[in-house]
Amino acid sequence: MEELSAGLHLSALQKRFGATIALGDGNLHVKPGEVHTLLGENGSGKSTLVKIIGGVHRADQGKVTLDGEALTFRSPRQANASGVATVFQEVLTAASQSVLENIWLGTDGVFRRRRSRAEQRAAASDVLGRLVDGIQLDSPAGELSLSERQAVCIARALVRTPRVLVLDESTAALDVQTRDRLFEEMRRLRSEGCAILFISHRMDEVEEISDRVTVLRSGRTISTVERSSMTIGQLISDMTGASSVVEHQREERELGPAILSAEGIRLAPAAETIDFELRRGELVGLAGLEGQGQDQFLRRLAGLIDGEGSLTQPAAGGESIRAAGSNKTGVAYLPRERRGESLFETMSTQENFALPTMRKDIRGPLLNPRRTSERFSRAAKDLSIKFGSSTDAISTLSGGNQQKVLLARWLATDPAVLLLNDPTRGVDITTKREIYAALRQLCSEGMSVVMLSSEVEEHVELVDRVLVFRNQSVFAEIGRTEIGNETIVAAYFGQRVAGVA
Ligand code: ADP
Ligand code: MG
Repeated sequence: MEELSAGLHLSALQKRFGATIALGDGNLHVKPGEVHTLLGENGSGKSTLVKIIGGVHRADQGKVTLDGEALTFRSPRQANASGVATVFQEVLTAASQSVLENIWLGTDGVFRRRRSRAEQRAAASDVLGRLVDGIQLDSPAGELSLSERQAVCIARALVRTPRVLVLDESTAALDVQTRDRLFEEMRRLRSEGCAILFISHRMDEVEEISDRVTVLRSGRTISTVERSSMTIGQLISDMTGASSVVEHQREERELGPAILSAEGIRLAPAAETIDFELRRGELVGLAGLEGQGQDQFLRRLAGLIDGEGSLTQPAAGGESIRAAGSNKTGVAYLPRERRGESLFETMSTQENFALPTMRKDIRGPLLNPRRTSERFSRAAKDLSIKFGSSTDAISTLSGGNQQKVLLARWLATDPAVLLLNDPTRGVDITTKREIYAALRQLCSEGMSVVMLSSEVEEHVELVDRVLVFRNQSVFAEIGRTEIGNETIVAAYFGQRVAGVA
């Protein structure tokens, strides 16, 4: 009995955010002395589960026990005090504070005060030195590289000598040498009885370090397997629920001539070059795990960043593309972060819509707000935007409707090509469907769309062709008739399913 309750147990965890069920039935047992990997597609609830363990969120239902004792953490500090150290998915360092301060950041007063300054320095230096060389404890964290900052976050967890260590995609930002040294530390901690929960999308890492693997799908625990009996094929089918894949009616569509052409695009020094041709009326999806180059590629198409290779618009006489969002090139780009990059919260809904196309409403020397208002109501009708009054602040709209306003804004520039960066992220399902319908309609009218999406389902449902990125290169190009949940996810993880180029 003693044995069974040892370690971290999560049972029937549930967590909702508004209408989203992030976790419906989360179950997991991480034993002392094991590395337990949690696998699942984007949005399957991994980080939510981690945040419950780490004291950031409280579960709506379910139970967490550590060595048989029930726990409800009210804060990350409380979780730490119980011996649970979590490295969250976001790389969290205070840029202006020193590396030393960052390593001890958030530690509860008692634990920290028990040590002298000199002891704190020695412990920080020891722990950090196990992961990387040459970092000065007194330099500001903001001066470090991303990999080094991630190492500081990991050192922050290690310095507490945890009973439970949680690493949420912590290797994604690490360079290879640091990753290998982290694995050494994990093996050492495991041999000392630490229970380690590890999250990574890299199959090579999962195979190298895991003792057991649990798969999460749509907020539910699907399976737990021992290292000796795990196969990548089975893990992928557990992640995607291959048997429940809906068969979408897929037919090749009649497409127009090439409208945008990219040649010899290289996204990183060691990456393969990318040649890409977008045809009139085509809807192409860009997919991949976070940070595999798809975001850069899209911004490259938008002309927002430079690099090796060239972009041309054959149908427009072959001139090269300069700025995005301008009418001359006919390429409009909708960025990913609504708040930071494109929404003006203090302005009205209608003004947010009209910003780049205000010229259309000028008569003589004056702006005619009624014309703006008329244009907006037409656009709002096309996209079923729900709003009170168009002169109310845009912040009064729901997230999904704000997103539609931004879509309407760029559609008002009459682009030949629309580039969308994860347009339905955080948008409710009804609004998503309305956006899909609008995009289908626009493509049938001859507009071309390139859409980056982190949701596999979205590609399955919507696009003509999907490019799956891996290591800043196009790993697979999947045509309309081959697109399916499983072919896409397999490519995410560097596997090829028969019939895929
Ligand atoms: P994963 O880490 O597996 O990618 P997450 O746990 O981050 O998944 O997300 C699970 C689901 O919960 C997603 O649909 C995500 O959009 C949603 N979600 C996560 N955190 C929040 C939040 N703070 N507010 C609203 N929705 C959230
Ligand atoms: Mg996550």
